[in-house]
Amino acid sequence: MKSCDVAIVGYGPVGQALAAYLGRAGITVAVFERDRYVFERARTGGTDDESLRFFQRLGLAQTIIAGLEEGTRVPGTMRFVNRDDQVLLNWPAGEPGPNGYRRLYMWHQPEVDRIVREYVDSLAGVAVHLEHEVEAVEAAADSVIVRARDRRSGAAVECDARYVVGCDGARSTVRAAVGAKFESLAASQGWVVVDLTLTRAVDSLPDEMVHYCDPRRPITYIRNVGNRRRWEFMVMPDEDPATMDAPAKVWELLAPWLGPDDAEIYRAVSYTFHSLLADRWRNGRLLLAGDAAHLMPPFLGQGLCSGLRDVRNLAWKLAAVLDGRAPEELLDTYGSERSPHVRELIELSDRVSGIIQTIDPEVAAKRDAEMLADGGGALHTPFPQLGPGLLPATAEAPLGTLFAQPRLADGRLLDDAVGEQFTILALPELVASLAPGLRERCRDAGVAILGDASPETRTALAAVGARGVLLRPDKYLLGVADSGEDLGRLVELVPGSAAPALDPAR
Ligand SMILES: Cc1cc2nc3c(=O)[nH]c(=O)nc-3n(C[C@H](O)[C@H](O)[C@H](O)COP(=O)(O)OP(=O)(O)OC[C@H]3O[C@@H](n4cnc5c(N)ncnc54)[C@H](O)[C@@H]3O)c2cc1C
Repeated sequence: MKSCDVAIVGYGPVGQALAAYLGRAGITVAVFERDRYVFERARTGGTDDESLRFFQRLGLAQTIIAGLEEGTRVPGTMRFVNRDDQVLLNWPAGEPGPNGYRRLYMWHQPEVDRIVREYVDSLAGVAVHLEHEVEAVEAAADSVIVRARDRRSGAAVECDARYVVGCDGARSTVRAAVGAKFESLAASQGWVVVDLTLTRAVDSLPDEMVHYCDPRRPITYIRNVGNRRRWEFMVMPDEDPATMDAPAKVWELLAPWLGPDDAEIYRAVSYTFHSLLADRWRNGRLLLAGDAAHLMPPFLGQGLCSGLRDVRNLAWKLAAVLDGRAPEELLDTYGSERSPHVRELIELSDRVSGIIQTIDPEVAAKRDAEMLADGGGALHTPFPQLGPGLLPATAEAPLGTLFAQPRLADGRLLDDAVGEQFTILALPELVASLAPGLRERCRDAGVAILGDASPETRTALAAVGARGVLLRPDKYLLGVADSGEDLGRLVELVPGSAAPALDPAR
């Protein structure tokens, strides 16, 4: 029987990311994936600035931005227009975000999957078992037995793991083993998604991403990388979803824009967009991440981004528990923190769906009048607060929100300077005022101390109303300080910290 610290079921983008983060932390990992190859028809059209920050920790952000064969593309805006082409809502997707990157990058996901898998292949402690379907996960005394089947040979394969994470997508096997149920947050809706490559220039196509909020048929158009373009057509109440992705129907839907002489379709699939959230994320040694735990309509492109946030939250906690730096209860904070955060994004995606999917002409006219009253609205990227966990439920934002990633005075980005540690970031005068002995205590507790006064650091600190902050390894804000004394007290918030109560006078 194989054995490992963590078994990951599913090697989609979330399983890959978790394998990369855990393997990088020196944890032994066994991955089980039923397919043989990277999924060439992967669904995401792009990702946000937070995800680029996520890949930065693996040293892959610049490869993704500049090193992909097909490249990435920063769109100018994402527009929501009514049937008269008036702008109801505008999202400035091309602007710099607070994480050190633009707010949105379009990509061809299989290329990204391949570079993440290459990275995972370079990690000694990670064994990837492709074409292995997991049939069951069973709790043992101090571990979990993963029962898989090698699809080539038909042989049964077993793995004894201290923890198992189900990254096995919407139809997760592990979710059933966790005993989790999906709560539905909004009605499901059928859409047909069409991906194509232009075979010649079609100058009339928009150069941006546009949601056509037209009650006659809501449509989304995505200007992707290179010659790739995507259309999403809502399935209307009198239509049969099963026939919507037939070639003749798809060309009929595309006819206002282009025809078979202009493009080759490489995917046309009928989807049902759901808004679902698991009611529990952990049961003992079993955990869930990604689509196994949550699903949302794709209009804001936050499905995978949310799965990567799960990984960011879970990976450092698993590492701390596995090497004994933190008690197992730390893993309880994973679901309690992540669930309310992703709920807010599902609900926002549902509100946006409500705008796009309005098909009653009278309701659409009222919507237009309200939204156009002040010249159309601007959509702002939300930065939700984590639920209770390391922080109590009473903690008020900005506590529990993601701290920005400033460029430091020495030119480095914050996360490159401090890595996966709890970190105190403060203005230099505050750090200088720390009482003697405190630095050693921070070192013993695994807390990095960084004094910096770059313009971006000052802006980031001012945004949370502080002169110093305590950041978790995933860079969420755990505490704020205005003085050296405050800073000292923050160290006590670190879970598993061996540091005694701090006496700032010492
Ligand atoms: C049309 C559309 C557009 C989207 N666009 C975006 C976007 O632009 N940005 C964004 O952030 N998100 C987007 N999303 C959401 C995004 O695609 C998903 O959130 C993401 O793919 C989830 O990744 P995952 O790894 O959790 O699950 P999946 O990608 O579903 O991967 C699960 C993996 O587990 C494997 N597996 C399942 N069961 C087993 C088993 N028993 N044994 C072994 N292996 C198993 C599967 O083969 C698969 O490889 C979009 C979704 C749709 C439908």
